[in-house]
Amino acid sequence: MNSPINIGEVRVSPGERKIVNLPVARLYTHTDLYMPVEVINGRRDGPSLFVSAAIHGDELNGVEIIRRLLRHSSLKRLHGTLIAVPVVNVHGLLHRSRYLPDRRDLNRSFPGSDRGSLAARIASLFMREIVANSTHGIDLHTGAIYRDNLPQVRANLDDPETRSLAEAFGTPVLINSDLRDGSLREAAAESGIPMLLYEAGEALRFDEVAIRLGLRGVLHVMRSLGMIPKVKRKGPRVQPVIAQSSTWVRASESGILWSGHKLGARVSRGDIIGRIAAPLMHSEHAVKAPVDGILIGRTHLPLVFEGEALFHVARFKRVASVAEQVEALHQELEPSPPVNAEPD
Ligand SMILES: [Zn+2]
Repeated sequence: MNSPINIGEVRVSPGERKIVNLPVARLYTHTDLYMPVEVINGRRDGPSLFVSAAIHGDELNGVEIIRRLLRHSSLKRLHGTLIAVPVVNVHGLLHRSRYLPDRRDLNRSFPGSDRGSLAARIASLFMREIVANSTHGIDLHTGAIYRDNLPQVRANLDDPETRSLAEAFGTPVLINSDLRDGSLREAAAESGIPMLLYEAGEALRFDEVAIRLGLRGVLHVMRSLGMIPKVKRKGPRVQPVIAQSSTWVRASESGILWSGHKLGARVSRGDIIGRIAAPLMHSEHAVKAPVDGILIGRTHLPLVFEGEALFHVARFKRVASVAEQVEALHQELEPSPPVNAEPD
């Protein structure tokens, strides 16, 4: 039998599902503001998983992943507890901004403090009410504005439990990172909680493949933790490959960028992956791939300044296998047009 869980002022008993509104700094119009949380406490015991999104207020794919997750039928047979936080940075979402109104990055403000900046206070609230009540976590992100990321999981893969969850998630690309950056991931790890970061798509956009792959990944992790029943696998299992390293290709000149290279494309060292030209000049600068690898991030804004990061290329031992799996997943998950009904 599972135990009750207390979040904010609300007690959620085994077998109950409740919405908890955690108060955050009110607006200066004197309007109250809350971080919305939905807690599903299973009848039977098991792990307690938080799934959070929009810690950067303009990153929306995760908001939709959580909305679909909360409607999923398998939650009726939940073991343990699911704590869903679709919008962590409520202030940022209101302003369609990555940051808080104090211009701080919430994901650089953990573990925070109740007497610190607005960002530090929200971080501290999240640690106290969400992380302290969890045994595992998944934080959902996208690229920044105008920047698109190939779906990838970033985690501390040197920790065996975190690594097995990262592999269960099922993105072809895994990035090993153990940063000291004030992120939620670092703070959760310090509290002994294995945490994954899913990174897919672009800020202020919905990306259907990224959303479907993210939802599927969260469900895979829940199955591997024994929280929901296993299902018969359809199709081949994704064999995730860890990037050996990754590098950003920066603009050597300011100008107009043209590139036909898509995310997931396989590139070889020296390949021309873009061209930068000035609007009135006939000369062009070729942008070349610095290494053999896969394109895991790129800008979509054709206007670039010298020094700007244009392409993110990751190196793998098995480049061909990653490229094939990315291609296969995209074919499988791409909505066959038109999307009339809401997919599950
Ligand atoms: Zn982010």
